[in-house]
Amino acid sequence: MQIGVLALQGAFIEHEHILTALGASSFEIRQLADLSRSMDGLIIPGGESTVQGKLLHDLGLFEPLQKMLNDGLPVFGTCAGLLLLAKHIANDERRHLATLDITAVRNAYGRQLGSFHTIAPFADCGNIPMTFIRAPYIESAGANVEILAAVNEHIVAAREGKQLVTAFHPELTDDATVHKYFLNMLK
Ligand code: GLN
Repeated sequence: MQIGVLALQGAFIEHEHILTALGASSFEIRQLADLSRSMDGLIIPGGESTVQGKLLHDLGLFEPLQKMLNDGLPVFGTCAGLLLLAKHIANDERRHLATLDITAVRNAYGRQLGSFHTIAPFADCGNIPMTFIRAPYIESAGANVEILAAVNEHIVAAREGKQLVTAFHPELTDDATVHKYFLNMLK
């Protein structure tokens, strides 16, 4: 299993560490040439969606990556990665890769609650730790989107086909449940 990790900005190294611990190999995507390597799936990390979106354009990665996603490349986006994949963002006129049929709310928890930690059920995997950092949530989702987790009645993890997103950062905890879920999705 070979996973490409978008490594332009944000928390990408943490994803690589979890993948290594799970026995999956990974490589960093920093420039166009990296997209020609064979990959079973892609991870888009947390960070700043606006910065990552701009860098994707500046580096000429945006269109090829969007095409690969539309052609079915499996993807896992955390936090800013969720925003990069969302078809709609309720409180931001920017759109990015826009391949996943959700409406996200950016910085949805305001300043006071910008960062918090909780434990909640994920898919059929039981309770897992969830770390939120200036996180979005999903306000609504299309008919083909499966809801995988909700916290305070807001959707915080979802899947449409082979696209998986979490508003929280599983790579910042020592729980590998969500990464295992993603790797199982690729089989
Ligand atoms: N607030 C960031 C954004 O809007 C996301 C934060 C994160 O990825 N931890 O892109």
